[in-house]
Amino acid sequence: MPEGPEIRRAADKIGKALIGKTIEDGQWPFPTISDKAHLLLEQEVLDVTSKGKAMLIRLANGWSMYSHNQLYGRWTVNLNTTEPKSNRSLRAEFITDRHAVRLWSATDIVLIRTEEEGAHPFLAKLGPDVLDDDVTHDLLTKRLESSTCKRKKAATLMLDQGAFAGLGNYLRSEILHSAGVHPDDRPCDLSSPTVSAWGRAIKDITVRAYQQGGVTVPKSVADASKARGEPRRRWRHAVFCRDERPCLTCGDLVLRKRYAGRRLDFCPSCQPAQRISG
Ligand SMILES: [Zn+2]
Repeated sequence: MPEGPEIRRAADKIGKALIGKTIEDGQWPFPTISDKAHLLLEQEVLDVTSKGKAMLIRLANGWSMYSHNQLYGRWTVNLNTTEPKSNRSLRAEFITDRHAVRLWSATDIVLIRTEEEGAHPFLAKLGPDVLDDDVTHDLLTKRLESSTCKRKKAATLMLDQGAFAGLGNYLRSEILHSAGVHPDDRPCDLSSPTVSAWGRAIKDITVRAYQQGGVTVPKSVADASKARGEPRRRWRHAVFCRDERPCLTCGDLVLRKRYAGRRLDFCPSCQPAQRISG
């Protein structure tokens, strides 16, 4: 499933094609929007952005198209002269003087007033979006220390969209390794410097993944792993998908745990448990 960085990169790409342009043509066959073409046609697109894993296309008439791709939705951007090739079901199509932007297969699409975006049931529940510029290290650290977060397990917190919007499975493993936090520890088990390191890692690893197209390690680290002949799914990360291999930081074996069926890879030496059980 794409995580916040992948959705934000998709929003950037769609924004390049649509922002400042007028929707000259298109089709919106999905039932929830099929009678709303009059709100979309001939409208200028003001902004395209993501909130967590949702996409928002904002129009000059004060309406926004909200969509969430879940596991199966997909966006494409083509020149408007290119014939689309897809076996998927077309859900929405925006044609400008130059481009055709299409949404396929998604089933969570709705038009809402831009000023009421915050009241949308999914968006209303989202925590701060880690990729937003005003979401700082300090804010994220305070969030970890807040009464709503401090007694939750790291493995749970790092997928909780109500705590931190945009994180997902690969980011979870990478953030916790970078911060030296054991997946079963809670913010209240940790020293203040460790919680601060965790807050910084949430921001820095996610921004790096956004800037580097899903790669969570510095380029030099990725290059060294590539030189050893590793496949992309492995060289792009520090611990995720590197289980049963030496940790790139300390050389100890990376282990895999599963939480609610979803894999989490971590290094027991870099991420020693601090929680005092009992
Ligand atoms: Zn290690």
